Amino acid sequence: MIKALNIYDFSKFELEEFLTSKNYPKYRTSQIWRYLYRNNIDNFEDMKNIPIDLISDLNKYFFIEKLKEMNYVISKDKSTYKSLFKLTDNLRIETVLMNYPSDDHRKPRKTICVSSQVGCALGCTFCATGQQGFFRQLKTGEIISQIMYFKKLEDKKYFDSYLSKPEKSYDGIKNIVFMGMGEPLANYNNTIKAIKILNDPNGINLGARSITISTVGLVPEIIKLSKENIQINLAVSLHAPDNFTRAQTVPINKRYPIEMLIDACKKYIQQTNRKIFFEYVLLSGQNDSTSHANDLGILLKGMLAHVNLIPVNPTKLSEYKRTSDSMIIKFQKELKKFGIPSTIRMEKGIEVSAGCGQLATSNEY
Ligand code: SF4
Repeated sequence: MIKALNIYDFSKFELEEFLTSKNYPKYRTSQIWRYLYRNNIDNFEDMKNIPIDLISDLNKYFFIEKLKEMNYVISKDKSTYKSLFKLTDNLRIETVLMNYPSDDHRKPRKTICVSSQVGCALGCTFCATGQQGFFRQLKTGEIISQIMYFKKLEDKKYFDSYLSKPEKSYDGIKNIVFMGMGEPLANYNNTIKAIKILNDPNGINLGARSITISTVGLVPEIIKLSKENIQINLAVSLHAPDNFTRAQTVPINKRYPIEMLIDACKKYIQQTNRKIFFEYVLLSGQNDSTSHANDLGILLKGMLAHVNLIPVNPTKLSEYKRTSDSMIIKFQKELKKFGIPSTIRMEKGIEVSAGCGQLATSNEY
């Protein structure tokens, strides 16, 4: 018996190869692709102008993965919907849908925060996922399935009854961020393949600039990514301006210390001419003094960079406390002296375990 494959695992080229190997014409690839990613179908039978023998072969060789939602939580402000999914091997991952209102530059929109691994091996001390350990890589199809799950429910206006109503100019699901469970660059090939599927103009057609990869600083992969010729956003989790402070919260700093990381970031900027977003989780008493801000300013001065200051999302498994609002403002002012733009980013859904890995490590299911 043939073991059916998840069709979301296939690139367009691979699907075309499969179809031509079965003597179907190439143009069927684009038709199937559109049904999968534009019409968001759940069953091959819903492909109306595809011949019956091809539908039968699709059913024989493939399935369309539908993730099983085990639990969900919604933030009190109705801005965030977080799902806990059970995978086919019973492992669990989280995906978050976030509602963003309009601002000076953009229409109201939704962003999906996807997981790239089950757990994570990198063990950052403030991160609930890191505290679980690593289980396995997610396949490309499992990454795509997270997005398709939300897109299909969005089509049915499912979230209208859970999240605050979209404003009139609502622009749809417009951004994908690889900031859920796992380190996306440690699952490099599957992550890049998923991005190419998301980016395909015949399918989901998400602009590369609407996709963000967040890394804790895997130096060889940052260099590799700079050569991919895809215009995605890169966010680097820095969290400290010196090796001593950073190594206390980000163990990978021992393998790739700050000098190596910043050097790789400079090469990335030179190669791509794209700005890097530096993520800086503020931990009270740990990395949030004006002297840390001063050192950060010296480190990043002159780089095409933007700093996102993120007050820590306390987890049940760590002791960290949030930095006070007045201290955050002081930190930001210090950075400004070096001409470094920054944004204070409040994590959405903080009271519903919506920070990375917090639902999968809670007892709420
Ligand atoms: S912050 Fe990212 S890299 Fe660090 S442990 Fe958590 S998921 Fe892994």
